[in-house]
Amino acid sequence: MHIGIIGGGPAGYVAAIRAAQMGAKVSVVEKEFLGGECTNHGCIPTKALYLTAHKIADFQWGNAMSLWDGEIFPDWRKILDFKNRVVQRLVKGIEFLFKKRGIELISGRAVFLSPTEILIEGAKSERRKFDKIIIATGSTTSIPPVEGLSGISPWDNRRALSAEKLPQKLVILGGGVIGVEFAHIFRAFGCDVTIVELMPKILPFNDDDVSSAIHRALVKEGVKIIVSAKAVYAHRNTEGVIIELDDGNSISAEEIIVATGRTPVFPDKLDEIGIEIGENGIVVDDFLRTSVEDVYAAGDVIGPPFLAHLASHQGIFIVERILGESDRKFDGSGVPAAIFSALEAGSAGLTEAEARKKFGDNVKIGKFPYIASGRALCEDEKEGFLKVIAAPDGKIIGFHSAGKNSSELLGLGGFLVQSGLSIDDVEDKIFAHPTLSEMIGESVLAAEQRAIHIL
Ligand SMILES: Cc1cc2nc3c(=O)[nH]c(=O)nc-3n(C[C@H](O)[C@H](O)[C@H](O)COP(=O)(O)OP(=O)(O)OC[C@H]3O[C@@H](n4cnc5c(N)ncnc54)[C@H](O)[C@@H]3O)c2cc1C
Repeated sequence: MHIGIIGGGPAGYVAAIRAAQMGAKVSVVEKEFLGGECTNHGCIPTKALYLTAHKIADFQWGNAMSLWDGEIFPDWRKILDFKNRVVQRLVKGIEFLFKKRGIELISGRAVFLSPTEILIEGAKSERRKFDKIIIATGSTTSIPPVEGLSGISPWDNRRALSAEKLPQKLVILGGGVIGVEFAHIFRAFGCDVTIVELMPKILPFNDDDVSSAIHRALVKEGVKIIVSAKAVYAHRNTEGVIIELDDGNSISAEEIIVATGRTPVFPDKLDEIGIEIGENGIVVDDFLRTSVEDVYAAGDVIGPPFLAHLASHQGIFIVERILGESDRKFDGSGVPAAIFSALEAGSAGLTEAEARKKFGDNVKIGKFPYIASGRALCEDEKEGFLKVIAAPDGKIIGFHSAGKNSSELLGLGGFLVQSGLSIDDVEDKIFAHPTLSEMIGESVLAAEQRAIHIL
């Protein structure tokens, strides 16, 4: 069995490794770099900058608390170099794994000739035939239909992450996950940042408590947030950009980042081989098969949620199905998602609003604040909470948190939701002290009004 994979991002490269582990012959066609958008221009570079900003904030915290006294002078160019080194190391790591596992990497752009044959446009053009093909071509920034916007060459994530110079004033269009992450990063490095969000709240698809905690934390660090605002016109003058809103107000800034959503990227000639494309991307069935036999699709190209770990999981699922190891349906429910902004956040499963809609007021909610945790206080992290949502029968159906290390707490929170565990399964488990994870036990107990360290 020879599997051809188009795209070497989290969906494609992980699928390739799994297929090679299972003994298949695998070739990956990649037009840019292994690791895809996530490793090169998304998850990893943003987190390298986010975590660097944290180290600076930790140092400043010591000054503010009079625990030490000193000055630091962050150097943006050197910080970018650090970020690039992290990316390079990971890309080289994937290349190494490919070599050791005998995975063929073909540089070039794939174009479909038939369901099992592609043309690779690269240094030398070649045609290749495969038994099965997985499309894993990802997504790119979508530019909203604001008059004048595309003409002023706004920054997307790639340009924002390689900006030679920090803008003094920045406007971010879109208060979703990518928007709030960039807002925090650029604010941490001293930019004056304004977020413009169309919906009545930032992070419109998150649990209300998470959205409002991040909103408050961003405002506290000096980010301006304008919600229920529609940008209608954009233009540039000698000083920068001007964004006009539908309420008659306008915002001027040195640069603008567009973070209003992602749109799938398709290999050319998909329509000619009959692959169905829907509103969100390539249409797949419960087994991630496209409308054409022998062609599967995974990752951002099949639509939201746009998450690297979901993309990888889909890639593994397809390969295990093709190679006969599994015949179950794909289940992406309860997939965890982290946010790295003025507060870190984690979510899995239903939001409180969704749970109340489904189960009414019999839903069980357990909430525990960081301020009641000994470990959080040792770290002087008083902002934040954990929230566990359980169905009336006690099954844990949602987990949400905001605060220090929430993305790590999500490891267990997401596991509870995805495993379909119940309050009974967790209530007698012992968590190490003093850790933030103790708050998971406490929030589960809080769903039955039994938390120890809060009333
Ligand atoms: C700023 C930002 C931050 C993010 N942060 C996170 C995060 O913290 N956590 C998280 O889970 N997700 C995050 N994401 C989302 C994550 O990056 C994507 O969900 C993930 O990259 C999707 O993986 P993929 O393999 O489907 O596609 P991609 O990573 O987009 O990879 C697709 C690959 O296909 C290649 N390709 C495309 N067309 C062709 C062709 N015709 N021929 C050959 N090759 C082709 C591309 O060059 C690319 O390398 C972030 C995204 C952005 C933009």
